[in-house]
Amino acid sequence: MQLIFLGPPGAGKGTMATRVADDHDIPHISTGDIFRYNINNKTALGLQVKSILDSGELVPDGLTIDLVRDRLGQEDCSKGFILDGFPRTIAQAEALESFSDIRCVLNFSLSDEIIVDRLSGRRVHKSSGRTYHVLHNPPKVSGKDDVTGEELIVRSDDQVDSVRKRLSVYYEQTAPLKEFYQNKGILHEVDATPPPDEVYESIKTILAET
Ligand code: ADP
Ligand code: ADP
Repeated sequence: MQLIFLGPPGAGKGTMATRVADDHDIPHISTGDIFRYNINNKTALGLQVKSILDSGELVPDGLTIDLVRDRLGQEDCSKGFILDGFPRTIAQAEALESFSDIRCVLNFSLSDEIIVDRLSGRRVHKSSGRTYHVLHNPPKVSGKDDVTGEELIVRSDDQVDSVRKRLSVYYEQTAPLKEFYQNKGILHEVDATPPPDEVYESIKTILAET
């Protein structure tokens, strides 16, 4: 099962990918998480991409494609995987065709107003990437990670200016991927507006039918 979760920032791709990956025992591969892990650990890659992530721009295609090609070549991807946040440009989608066999792309759609609400309330546990929302998916204890009890943070790119930039980057560079996959007959629409359990049920229905 090789899946792509496509959609704007804050649509709930990561939240749903975690659940679906658990169900099917396949890895959830988030390029954003990989970049943030490298930034937190101050690796050479992290130092290279930190200012790009903070600005809301995209990391260059060549670097991102090489990273994903290597990751998909690892043993745990042999049964399948969920790509979350990749591809984000047509060049990335074309490259992906040469090293994967994607037959199902889920496109998460929701209004800009709800996107802004989701991003402004998003809280994350820095070392694990676990994600919460202050209202819609709160931790058991306010401001603390459910598993470790450590502090939750606001991602630096969830600040208002970066969010605006990320949305415009999404519409310019990533939204055209809908047509790319529609033309291949493998795009499935997910209304990402309802509460998490409802979105999850609609994803399960699509996956059962494909
Ligand atoms: P969100 O989940 O809010 O959409 P991500 O965690 O997927 O955000 O991505 C955060 C940032 O990481 C992006 O704004 C971009 O700078 C970088 N990034 C992630 N995936 C890619 C990609 N496929 N191509 C280029 N840049 C990427
Ligand atoms: P993405 O990976 O697409 O950027 P996330 O999975 O990080 O999105 O979700 C963005 C924010 O919205 C998080 O705070 C998350 O807890 C919350 N969220 C996710 N799905 C829903 C939903 N269906 N309804 C309300 N809030 C949601």
